[in-house]
Amino acid sequence: MPSEEAVRADPEPRFRRVLLKLSGEALMGKGAAYGIDPDAVTRIARDVSAVHAMGVEVCLVVGGGNIFRGLAGVAAGIDRATADGMGMLATIINALALQSTLEGLGLTTRVVSAIPMQTICEPYIRRRAARHMEKGRVVICAAGTGNPYFTTDTAAALRAAELACEALFKGTQVDGVYSADPQRDRAAVRYDRVSYTRVLSDNLRVMDSTAISLARDNGIPVIIFSIHDPGAFADVVCGAGRFTTVSEEE
Ligand code: UDP
Repeated sequence: MPSEEAVRADPEPRFRRVLLKLSGEALMGKGAAYGIDPDAVTRIARDVSAVHAMGVEVCLVVGGGNIFRGLAGVAAGIDRATADGMGMLATIINALALQSTLEGLGLTTRVVSAIPMQTICEPYIRRRAARHMEKGRVVICAAGTGNPYFTTDTAAALRAAELACEALFKGTQVDGVYSADPQRDRAAVRYDRVSYTRVLSDNLRVMDSTAISLARDNGIPVIIFSIHDPGAFADVVCGAGRFTTVSEEE
């Protein structure tokens, strides 16, 4: 394995096809409680563009928590399946924002939605989405799994398996997996590598348990890094920078 310096001097991607899960929160401005911040979207789009420029096939799964979460709707008296439908529609709004910004940087993209919405994007068809990636298009998967009672984390694990992605990257608020929330607990320990089983048994809140189980059952490594560090996605795809790998081994 090359030394860290060697990786920096001549960055070589470790994967040919990856999936990046972006939560809706990543698209909000710092300190905002709602909505889409064009600067945040542009920064993320640049990071995606840098990975694409290395010849890596990239697809994205985007969340919707910056606009609407099903459980918030339930708390407001909306039934769960309807509220989840609203949450999935929120992810389509985010996907379109990402598409426009990525195309502004010169990339070719396709938004593919699990809820058909033909006038604004393509329906998700697995083989077609894979073909888009082969042709160098960035595929943005919207509307989660298309089913209520699921999350976009689970959609990310599902699409990563279906589209034969070699790794599922999750850009989060922190630079890896900790034993407790590092923003609240100073004693929190950071892991470089942790097993799926430990994530589930210690309830490490990396992703929901359905997503982790699906990744485990399909042998897809989940790589957690900070979405707030510009350039981190490209570094981490090359095995550099700070990240935690969730896989079979500890
Ligand atoms: N959602 C759903 N099924 C899915 C994915 C998402 O019903 O397969 C709904 C759910 O209500 C969720 C909302 O869409 O609260 C937004 O997704 P998520 O909370 O995963 O977004 P994130 O937290 O990543 O921004």
